[in-house]
Amino acid sequence: MGTFAQRMSGVSVSATLKVAAEAERLRRAGHSVVDFSAGEPDFPTPEHVKSAAKAAIDANFTRYTAAAGVPELREAICTRYKAQYGVDITAAEVLMTVGGKQALFNTALALVDPGDEVVTHAPYWPTIPEQVKLVGGVPVIVSTSSDDGFAVTADAIIAAMTPKTKAIILNSPANPTGGLIEESAVAAIADEAARRGVWVIVDLCYEQLIYETVPHNLPKVLFDRHRDKTVLAGSASKSYAMTGWRCGWTIAPKDLTSVFNIIQGQTTSNIASITQKAALAAVSGPQTAVQEMLDEYRTRRDNIHTWLTAHPAIKCVKPKGAFYLFPDISGLLAPGTTSTDFAQGLLEKEHVVVTPGEAFDAPGYLRISYATSMEQLREGATRILRYAESLQPAKAGTR
Ligand code: PMP
Repeated sequence: MGTFAQRMSGVSVSATLKVAAEAERLRRAGHSVVDFSAGEPDFPTPEHVKSAAKAAIDANFTRYTAAAGVPELREAICTRYKAQYGVDITAAEVLMTVGGKQALFNTALALVDPGDEVVTHAPYWPTIPEQVKLVGGVPVIVSTSSDDGFAVTADAIIAAMTPKTKAIILNSPANPTGGLIEESAVAAIADEAARRGVWVIVDLCYEQLIYETVPHNLPKVLFDRHRDKTVLAGSASKSYAMTGWRCGWTIAPKDLTSVFNIIQGQTTSNIASITQKAALAAVSGPQTAVQEMLDEYRTRRDNIHTWLTAHPAIKCVKPKGAFYLFPDISGLLAPGTTSTDFAQGLLEKEHVVVTPGEAFDAPGYLRISYATSMEQLREGATRILRYAESLQPAKAGTR
């Protein structure tokens, strides 16, 4: 019998950790490292949010709260979703979590039994299938392709459903592709899920980071069709540059929210009281910082996309949301080499950190986070192109 619980046996460690450790080694050795691996905003948390937290400390708002979070924060979430999506939610359907990660994990714990299948789409944020595995579920992966901008189609999701399907997890805007799922696809998925009694979970972590004005009212589409089995997982991390504060939430039917409350009551209890006051300011205060960050990300996206796609062998759809570029670099790989080899070589030769596609079940791609300064983007793009050029002789005659 092993020392550790059986449930840990199939769960992987984050593939980004190895690259991060190597980058740290190079940095300590005094090299100028360009880091495109960050999954978080480089902006500081907005001033009014920080002030609210400081005021909370000064007012000694430093004790336990209700496990689900203070009522005024849960009500503020309802008000925000009403303003943004036109949906009516009550505070009894909202529970504050330690980031979107705990929102998704509470959901997996509450819904998935060992052997249950959970359908999701690739390239994916690795935590999604790993959490399913942690609770004994079986992730069923639907592949998408860069040829059509990583579109998640209803047909593909429905084709992956079996009598064992317990839930579908959608992520839009998506990490790592920056893709958006069409409302019509979500509607068709919801109709089929309703017919089969399957839960639909939407990871809305990047919901405020959508670059063009396009219809993307997934909460409304789902609530109109499948409200009794829809879970929305939200997060303050990316929207308000609050990754370290650890604040997310679930919006789910009351009975499921009660189960979340039990899980959280017996594990972490409430999220930090101070974070709750900060989140209240973020969610109910002025949204100008959100717009400013979005505008800056858009300019960065346009630039890095233009710079990198100047190379004929780098193919890249322009992301519609989130803050990652996900280029196909398979045209640069010598026979028998992988995108992990490419990322490793790029790190060693040019000291640029990127995450290889293998981390997201997408070999042949790289994830480049543009949540970093324009100078770093310019410098990193120059180095990537130089590295790509250095590989060309090996490719002579093969393209
Ligand atoms: N969903 C996706 C797709 C993410 O990329 C992340 C963060 N990398 C999260 C959820 C969770 O973030 P947090 O726990 O900080 O809210």
